[in-house]
Amino acid sequence: MNSEQAVIERDQKYVVPTYKRSSFVVDHGEGVYLYDTSGKRYLDFVAGIAVNALGYGDPEILAAIEQQARRLIHVSNLYLTEPQTVLAEMLVQNSFADKVFFCNSGAEANEAAIKFARKWGRRNGGDRYEIIAFSGAFHGRTMGALAATPREHYQAPYRPLLPGVVIAEYNNLASARAAVSERTCAIIVEPIEGEGGILPATAEFLQGLRELCNERHLLLICDEVQCGLGRSGTLWAYEQSGIKPDVMTIAKPLAGGLPMGATLVTEDVASAIAQGDHGSTFAAGPLVSSVAQVVVRRVSQPSFLAHVREVGEYLGAGLRRLAQHKPIVSEVRGRGLMWAIELTEDAAPYVTKGYEQGVIMTMAGQKVLRLLPPLVIQRQHVDDFLAVLDGVLPGGAE
Ligand code: PLP
Repeated sequence: MNSEQAVIERDQKYVVPTYKRSSFVVDHGEGVYLYDTSGKRYLDFVAGIAVNALGYGDPEILAAIEQQARRLIHVSNLYLTEPQTVLAEMLVQNSFADKVFFCNSGAEANEAAIKFARKWGRRNGGDRYEIIAFSGAFHGRTMGALAATPREHYQAPYRPLLPGVVIAEYNNLASARAAVSERTCAIIVEPIEGEGGILPATAEFLQGLRELCNERHLLLICDEVQCGLGRSGTLWAYEQSGIKPDVMTIAKPLAGGLPMGATLVTEDVASAIAQGDHGSTFAAGPLVSSVAQVVVRRVSQPSFLAHVREVGEYLGAGLRRLAQHKPIVSEVRGRGLMWAIELTEDAAPYVTKGYEQGVIMTMAGQKVLRLLPPLVIQRQHVDDFLAVLDGVLPGGAE
């Protein structure tokens, strides 16, 4: 039995089968490429689901891991360590926020946001605990985040869900307004829905939500777990609509591939939270925090963000050109380096064809090919990707 077959069989025998796996086994990564155990190279347009923003083997990330691992990896939040505080300062200085709560994933960041909103809502008059979320949203798979993720196949096996979550229609302000009651404390929204199919909220919608929150004294929570930290072409996607949230959740690329999440809040929200209200054993240990400093420093540089916008527009233009002679493509949409190619049929076979041709793509819903390449890709990588995609999708060649 070859080593690939052995991995597949061990996975099937010993790992709880929650994932649909690729048929190949990834061995290592270099730059914007992954290599499988047979030595085959793949151009990676998934980046660990929007995680590996700086690609694979970034020297600064490797140096931060090595240096900090030798000093101290973990000590728990009973004790102060410098890297966590420096990271918090960097996040605050580069966003709307005044304070940061750290955790280990996107779902955990949203759990913290939900808990903080409820505590804040109760402090600010009466029994306010309801949260409004939107159709198409994905906020994670823990019980709180799941209640705000209105997808039947994710929710059905786990009912009863967390009560107090009301679903309104995305990009429909009237629907959001109608969902507000005297029990509402917050609205949670993805400025660009990721798993929902790379669907940007309109600027008017986000501005309208901000006004609604001001009027009714609600918290606006932006979930930037997928679209944040440069992916949309600005450091935070909310910037593109000219609004500021009260709470923002981030994770995915934050610590360069190590698990880390964060919930960024205003002073008003932070002042509702006291010692013992929430916590985490692992959160923002010195190792992950040191690596996250590298990521935040790099992705917040204006030249880095300009690169994301420039290569992103180049990719978008190439996709639109390709779509013109591919009747199977019904829509191309995206911002920065997050793009969706909506097909008229199931996208899964085209992901598999991509693998065969040495390109990695993922899906968002059954008919959408989702592209989330490392933010450091160059035009040449985009050209190579488009050439492969042209052969993968049926229709005339360019
Ligand atoms: N929020 C958004 C917008 C996401 O895209 C995801 C994951 O895809 C999550 C939350 C959950 O993050 P995690 O898988 O790290 O728990």
